[in-house]
Amino acid sequence: MPNPPVPPATVRSGNAPVRSWVRRITQGGQLTETCPPYCTDTHFNDDSGAVDDLTHGFHFDGPELPLFDSEQGSAPVPVLAGRVQISPYSISQRKRAPHLVLEPVQDEVIENLSPDEFAEIISKIRAQCDVLDEIHARFVAIHAEWTETLP
Ligand SMILES: [Zn+2]
Repeated sequence: MPNPPVPPATVRSGNAPVRSWVRRITQGGQLTETCPPYCTDTHFNDDSGAVDDLTHGFHFDGPELPLFDSEQGSAPVPVLAGRVQISPYSISQRKRAPHLVLEPVQDEVIENLSPDEFAEIISKIRAQCDVLDEIHARFVAIHAEWTETLP
């Protein structure tokens, strides 16, 4: 299959750059890929690969909490981080649409969330924060009562 010429990078209106490159497909041929406006991936290793290997997206960080591990003790671990992404050639219809991968705790993920599913999880986390506020108030009282019993 002859390779088509590489189109030059163009500039989107509003000065948001369009990032395009040619990707060699291991099954044969090549494709011209263009990042969606929200993509911050470097694509350093995406010059070749299987057609469905490509994702575009961006990562968001979460706060670090000192989680305990029996081998390493307490160490800061990001929680509630994640990534909005799209896998344009996936066999999964859900992955061909923009979807969210939530990482409640590092290396544990909830995959392929739709906007409505993500809203449901946010709602559950927010409701749990209300429970934690109530538990905190009880805990403060319990701790104060315990402090009063100290000699
Ligand atoms: Zn991209």
